[in-house]
Amino acid sequence: MDLHSLRYLVVGAGLWGGVLAERIASQLGERVLVIDRRSHLGGNCHSYKNAGTGIECHAYGSHIFHTSIPRVWEYVTKFTEFTPYRHRVFTQYQGRVYPMPINLLTINNFYNLNLKPYEVEEFIKNEAGKTGDAPPRNLEEKAVSLIGRPLYEAFIKGYTQKQWEKAPRDLPAEIITRLPVRGNYVTDYFADPWQGMPKNGYAAFFERLFSHPLIEVVCNTEYADIAGRTPKNCLTLYSGPLDAFFGYTRGALEWRSLTFEREVVPYGDYQGTAVMNNADPATPYTRVHEFKHLHPERGPQGDASVIAREYPKTFTRGDEAYYPVNTPENQELLHAYQADLAALPNIIAGGRLGAYRYMDMDKTIAAALGCFDGIQKGSGHALSLE
Ligand code: UDP
Repeated sequence: MDLHSLRYLVVGAGLWGGVLAERIASQLGERVLVIDRRSHLGGNCHSYKNAGTGIECHAYGSHIFHTSIPRVWEYVTKFTEFTPYRHRVFTQYQGRVYPMPINLLTINNFYNLNLKPYEVEEFIKNEAGKTGDAPPRNLEEKAVSLIGRPLYEAFIKGYTQKQWEKAPRDLPAEIITRLPVRGNYVTDYFADPWQGMPKNGYAAFFERLFSHPLIEVVCNTEYADIAGRTPKNCLTLYSGPLDAFFGYTRGALEWRSLTFEREVVPYGDYQGTAVMNNADPATPYTRVHEFKHLHPERGPQGDASVIAREYPKTFTRGDEAYYPVNTPENQELLHAYQADLAALPNIIAGGRLGAYRYMDMDKTIAAALGCFDGIQKGSGHALSLE
């Protein structure tokens, strides 16, 4: 690890750091050092082959690529081909299975009706109308306004309470606007024009992203191990948690973590789909991943399968951070840390952890490309490089 005359340090070998390292190396022709505390590339998108079955597993839960941003699609397809995989999710509630996000089949099966697409809007409006006309102030009010109370109680309340360990009325409404509600039988989880899985997997995609000869990656290395040892004019692109960067001086930002209970099961097909949610409050996990279904083009892949039950977990220091908890208190703390950061020369923070934002993969790539534009133009923090 050569820190001498280093101009660019990337902290975190996830998507945000990977895109920036790649752009700096390939477009500016500059050497980039990338460090990561983990033993692998790709951050939470990391995938690996299960030794016994050869099935590609996602170490941190299923990651499905989807985007509506032309620039992002153009960028990622430089590094991998994508399969035409369309993600479809189902949810279990009281022993029955329904499509998720909520569509006409969910509604008809739940109410035991045969509503037509042209009837469903009126039906939901009547259900939701019971909430009154005030604009929704939180996740519960937003969900009830979109789907009515009975569907909310069945499919959203229990799942959300498990996922966030907070009452939905104490959570921001935006979380639920991630999920569409459909008055037809379309079962696709995402509506974006570009969707799929990296053909040879995420691990291969990240190998390629970091493959430029001007990029050096050093794993199993904490930022604290090299902080203060880089040259003065070195720009640090930091994608770790912002509170950790400042040694928690102002307090800790709140995160949600997850644990995965992995199992090789003796079935060629265990649950018939890649992700099965569970809406029952009494079931402690939120969903079960069955990884082989993310790659149907690879065939049946043997008569065993790898599954992972996903359990939400209260974050304590040392856990992996997955989701920022977007409450007003956490936003206030974030802004204070961001002001501290802005006062420092030659450092930019980003990615889901560094920006403390619930960003999907494509938004993270878009943010990294935007950040690189700023660096290339010599604007913002990058100015102080000169
Ligand atoms: N959600 C829910 N029931 C479900 C799936 C999602 O109530 O069956 C809510 C829950 O609050 C969750 C949010 O919708 O946090 C966003 O779900 P998404 O699947 O987008 O979450 P991610 O895949 O990012 O964990």
